[in-house]
Amino acid sequence: MSTNMQTVSAQKSSGAPADFHSFLHLAGVDAPDAELYDTCVRCGLCLESCPTYSLLHLEPASPRGRIALMRAVGEERLAATAPAFLQQMDLCLGCLACQAVCPSGVEYGHLHEAGRAQAAAVRQKGALRRMIEWTVFQWLFMSIGRVRLFARTLWLYQRSGLQWLARRLGVLRLLGMAGVEALLPTIDSRFVVPDGSVYPPLAVTVNGSTRRVALLTGCVQSIAFADVHTATIHALRVNGCEVVLPRGQECCGALHQHGGELALAQALARRNIDALEAADADVIVVNAAGCSHHVKEYGHLLRDDPVYAQRAAALAAKTRDITELLAELGPKPPRSSLPWRVTYQEPCHLAHGQKVTSQPRKVLAAIPGLDFVEMAESSMCCGSAGTYNILQPEMATQLLARKLDNSAATRANVIASANTGCMIQMRAGVTQRGMDTRVLHIVEILDAAYQQDEASS
Ligand code: SF4
Ligand code: SF4
Repeated sequence: MSTNMQTVSAQKSSGAPADFHSFLHLAGVDAPDAELYDTCVRCGLCLESCPTYSLLHLEPASPRGRIALMRAVGEERLAATAPAFLQQMDLCLGCLACQAVCPSGVEYGHLHEAGRAQAAAVRQKGALRRMIEWTVFQWLFMSIGRVRLFARTLWLYQRSGLQWLARRLGVLRLLGMAGVEALLPTIDSRFVVPDGSVYPPLAVTVNGSTRRVALLTGCVQSIAFADVHTATIHALRVNGCEVVLPRGQECCGALHQHGGELALAQALARRNIDALEAADADVIVVNAAGCSHHVKEYGHLLRDDPVYAQRAAALAAKTRDITELLAELGPKPPRSSLPWRVTYQEPCHLAHGQKVTSQPRKVLAAIPGLDFVEMAESSMCCGSAGTYNILQPEMATQLLARKLDNSAATRANVIASANTGCMIQMRAGVTQRGMDTRVLHIVEILDAAYQQDEASS
């Protein structure tokens, strides 16, 4: 698979014209590894956990149906250009709920990743879509400097009154952009720049040692979730860690991988490995679950790279999601009480992709006075799923509505999460519904109690 995958990626990156008819018959192009789909015994035990199947009740929109389509393409019984195949690669959220419950161990994530890259390679696109994809994948998110530049423009739009005016005049609705615009995160006044800063520990760890932790600052987190980074750094210091922000980091590449741009995802992974290795840290910590999952997959992503394969696997092995690391460290219980009613929306790539389910709850349970209440279907996808909420707005809206209904039923005034995309999606939903509910990262909730400790001491 990988050789062919590289062929497709190389063709796309070089801009060489793709031979549409060779793709049609799968000659010389990537096809999913047969052992990946052969593991599926078609038992159907994954169907009930699949969000798209639960909404559409159609076999092709189920994990089993999609695996059958990928097998048909892989065995050259179906062209990769077949509408059913392309549609189902797009409609799948990549939420991994099916993989988490599959008794046969089907690696659905890797299978879908191959299928989506194949679909991206053969799809016929109009000039506008090609231009948007080039701008987003090849230009904007390949450079964190350009992301910051773009964010400053957005900040001006949001703070100058232009956003208010555009919404008021209905310009965005006329341009068909109201839905996408509503999903824009609020850009911070101050960005978190990985400038090599080192923050010393404020205490010792439970076992008396100090850990050096390198924080992956990411792309969207660094420009729109500075508060989450600040809380992460402080909470880790309270728990005995030295925190470093290594220079030279880029976007983790999850966005590119989800978009079928594997060569670009690999290039970003190599740059991040160089930057994070140089920090000489004991642990790499990531506070966006989609990104922590992706960095843990660097070993798989670069498995055929003679220079980076081992280094990628080593870096992945010492990567932790922030909720996982805090639970490992204790966390140190705050003295201050937080009388908040909190429910938890589980990010798919944390619960299903990393099987990190008890640790976020353990962190919340360490906070005195916090009234924690479970929501129904807590690990069902909220519809964010990378760019899914932009490209598949109808499905995403239905999933968001279901998530907000489940949240509202708990009567919680705070929805805790652990992923950037989910938080953007949930905040947009809460605003649209006019709910009196805040959406916060788990580490922000823990750190609110630590801040109160410091203020009262
Ligand atoms: S993916 Fe797993 S659970 Fe789903 S039908 Fe195949 S073997 Fe069964
Ligand atoms: S990844 Fe999610 S949406 Fe896709 S088939 Fe599996 S459960 Fe369904």
